[in-house]
Amino acid sequence: MQAVALRRGAYAPAVIEIDRPDPGPGEVLVRTLRVGVDGTDHEVIAGEHGGFPEGADYLVLGHEAVGVVEDPNDTGLEVGDVVVPTVRRPPASGPTEQFERGQPHMAPPEETLERGIDGAHGFMAEYFTSRAADLVRLPAALAPLGFLVEPISISEKALALARGSRSAFDWRPESALVLGNGSLGLLTLAMLGDVDRRYCLGRRDRPDPTIEIIERLGATYVDSRETPILEIPAVHEAADLVYEATGYARHAFESIEALAPNGVAALVGVPEPWRFEVDGGRLHRKLVMNNLAVVGSVNSGREHFAAAIETLEGLPSWFTDALVTGVYPLSEYERAFATSETTIKTALQFDTQ
Ligand code: NAP
Ligand code: BGC
Ligand code: ZN
Repeated sequence: MQAVALRRGAYAPAVIEIDRPDPGPGEVLVRTLRVGVDGTDHEVIAGEHGGFPEGADYLVLGHEAVGVVEDPNDTGLEVGDVVVPTVRRPPASGPTEQFERGQPHMAPPEETLERGIDGAHGFMAEYFTSRAADLVRLPAALAPLGFLVEPISISEKALALARGSRSAFDWRPESALVLGNGSLGLLTLAMLGDVDRRYCLGRRDRPDPTIEIIERLGATYVDSRETPILEIPAVHEAADLVYEATGYARHAFESIEALAPNGVAALVGVPEPWRFEVDGGRLHRKLVMNNLAVVGSVNSGREHFAAAIETLEGLPSWFTDALVTGVYPLSEYERAFATSETTIKTALQFDTQ
């Protein structure tokens, strides 16, 4: 069967031929429908994040998948069930404490593999196998957009951690600032529809499709070149919630300056090491005197996938139509990885082969 993989030493994906996998005990054979591409895939391809499976000279890419159960293999799933796989798997040495507790998304990075990202093959292949316990069923009608469940689940977890950090008092967020107008930033902006006033930071000139989406969602576009984060409280307002999805390391600290009293910043960007100066005393003082929280969040668990399926069902079709700028067959796989001013979210389609 065909798969899209990154070979060792290469900085671009390629189509390769590999054996179709056989499901082991407790595992299911899934026929892949679609697999999304996100900023992390680009970081993996650039050699900035993740790694190859032990002893392998390639990594099958892709962690945002949706597929159909082809062989349930006595697991309780049924032929034709539409499923989305979670991403984390135990290391070769066996399940660690967080896996045994059913919360691999809380495992330290050195105690987990991530399919399609770090140490385990991903889902960009005509078929993949997975433990049934690592698959989440979704309504068949959602199959075409099922590749959005994993990225939405990332924000479900990050927002749950942010809300959790404010649960000791009566927190009523009225304003939210999303940093980043990539696919994750835009999905999160759409998910925050019940916050009265929303802002989204980017660095694009008009006309731009992401700005059109931001404004159609009823949010305000903030151009970071005209209004740096530090000026947002004066030009617009301080935010009760900041959601960082740029991967730009300064934003982790500048978020604190953009927060209103009692606010929380959720960070999901994954930057490269970068040294720069900040006024640590000022930030420390602001955190304490204003009862602020900053939470980092990575990956997501089954409960966040379940919440993401509900969220996906509620997203307006104009939004998903505008967000997904291209779904490409395997024969045009390079287009799914191409970036441009008009590209937002892309996916590879496997079921046309
Ligand atoms: P993406 O498509 O690369 O989006 C990042 C966006 O941030 C881009 O639109 C970029 O604008 C914008 N941006 C970057 N620096 C900026 C700046 N200084 N001012 C204004 N805008 C800026 O990536 P994504 O898929 O949405 O993911 C966002 C981040 O989350 C990435 O770092 C990714 O690695 C991370 N991530 C983390 C998790 C997790 O579990 N924690 C899960 C998924 C993704 P331009 O396009 O104009 O350059
Ligand atoms: C994936 C997560 C993963 C994270 C860090 C994200 O793009 O969606 O599942 O944990 O990258 O590798
Ligand atoms: Zn991802």
